[in-house]
Amino acid sequence: MAKGRNNVVLFPFMAQGHIIPFLALAHHIEQMGYAVTFVNTPLNIKKIHKSISPGSSSIDLLEIPFNCSDHGLPPEAENTDCLSYNLSLRLLEATLTMELPFRKLLSDLIDAGEKPVCVISDFFFGWTADVAHEFGIFHAIFSGASGFGMACYYCLRLNLIHQGPGNVEIFLPDFPEAGRFHVTQIPFFMLVAGEDDRMKKFQRKNLPKWSSSDAFIFNTVEDLDRSGLSFFRRKLRIPVWSIGPLLLSRRDTSREATSSLEKCMEWLDKREAKPVLYISFGSQNTISASQMMNLAKALDASSRNFIWVVRPPLETDINAEFAAEKWLPEGFLQRVHDQERGLIISRWAPQVEILAHNSVAAFMSHCGWNSVLESLKNGVPLIGWPVAAEQFYNAKLLVEEVGVCVEVARGTNVEVREEDIMEKIELVMGENEEGKRMRRRAGEVKQVIEAAMRDEGDSKGSSVKAMHEFFAVANSSCYLN
Ligand code: UDP
Repeated sequence: MAKGRNNVVLFPFMAQGHIIPFLALAHHIEQMGYAVTFVNTPLNIKKIHKSISPGSSSIDLLEIPFNCSDHGLPPEAENTDCLSYNLSLRLLEATLTMELPFRKLLSDLIDAGEKPVCVISDFFFGWTADVAHEFGIFHAIFSGASGFGMACYYCLRLNLIHQGPGNVEIFLPDFPEAGRFHVTQIPFFMLVAGEDDRMKKFQRKNLPKWSSSDAFIFNTVEDLDRSGLSFFRRKLRIPVWSIGPLLLSRRDTSREATSSLEKCMEWLDKREAKPVLYISFGSQNTISASQMMNLAKALDASSRNFIWVVRPPLETDINAEFAAEKWLPEGFLQRVHDQERGLIISRWAPQVEILAHNSVAAFMSHCGWNSVLESLKNGVPLIGWPVAAEQFYNAKLLVEEVGVCVEVARGTNVEVREEDIMEKIELVMGENEEGKRMRRRAGEVKQVIEAAMRDEGDSKGSSVKAMHEFFAVANSSCYLN
């Protein structure tokens, strides 16, 4: 496609939870008639290239140079999905060295007569606003996280003072609408972070840069996430739009992925009358070995059908083979197989398609925002088990404001009893008043989401209108004069 002034540059951080919503945004923008240049590091671009079906998209994939060994990263470690927390942090810090190559990339596009109408970058890349402005290009930040989750995270990162022992309640003076937080809702390393904490240092430089951007767009729905969006409107004083949920399906066309999809769909098709619990902790998180053992015991003792995406527990190498004999109860795999009750999938499952299947009745989730949207879009209530980042606040929003979730545990260093897990599963899936209410509410939320995405003639939902408003502003910005 001839790009001219129709070009939109998208630049996500190198983590699946970031790349996936950016790809969904890329497809959406492409359908609106824009040309898309999707920027990332060489190995991620290679992977993304495989996931875009040939012939079905004209998204231009553009490599930004990046060499892992220059940053003390293992070879080929360009994505957090193969890195421990500490190395993921190193990858994040390494993105600060991309300023020069990103400047060159924009300059080359302009020289080729493809000056972007806007740059939409990750919330970790606050510095890109200044670079875009140097070239007179409109800049926006796109968040695949919720407004509420980001608002809590923003306040805590900028203002949380080291908590003394015994202080179990936390209040965010800048964001009173969020209510009170229990200390267990704040990731431990955030609570104890001193001034030399690397993530704190990174964010204290990055977050203030957000107000240099021209707009903030969120992959969320206005009616479900009002308080967080209002927070950013008053705090950053730039336009904030909610344009979601933009979701990506069939993102991997490799042979293994296709066979895993077929296997899951076939298995789910056979369980039409018996509701299935889907369990996953997202693209990069896992739980501790003892938590994993207790979760398996609860599933063993319960009569529920389930699909569980397993990953080696926290204490082991994230890239290790899954050793069921070490981490699951003896005979567990054989029993669930014989009872035709459970499907265990190692590492990666076709989640979007699983959650869209009629047989799936509940989702035990770490409450990453993509997972939440994928669940609610299908009216599936959640059993929340947040483990990191803004997942704790997403769970709070879903429990206290939206009413579609019950929490089963918080974090990876707490003991989670088998009985408590079973109780929460029955609460959400069983024939009790609370379960019925939650499932009904999840059905209503599904309708709220459909209404936000409605695009029929003059009848346009809030997210569709927001996307049009965003481009109207970007197109008329003074930078294009
Ligand atoms: N995902 C998937 N299969 C898996 C695990 C994750 O397709 O086995 C996808 C999931 O559908 C979602 C994304 O990875 O789109 C995870 O994003 P989320 O925000 O939920 O969590 P994160 O991985 O960023 O913590």
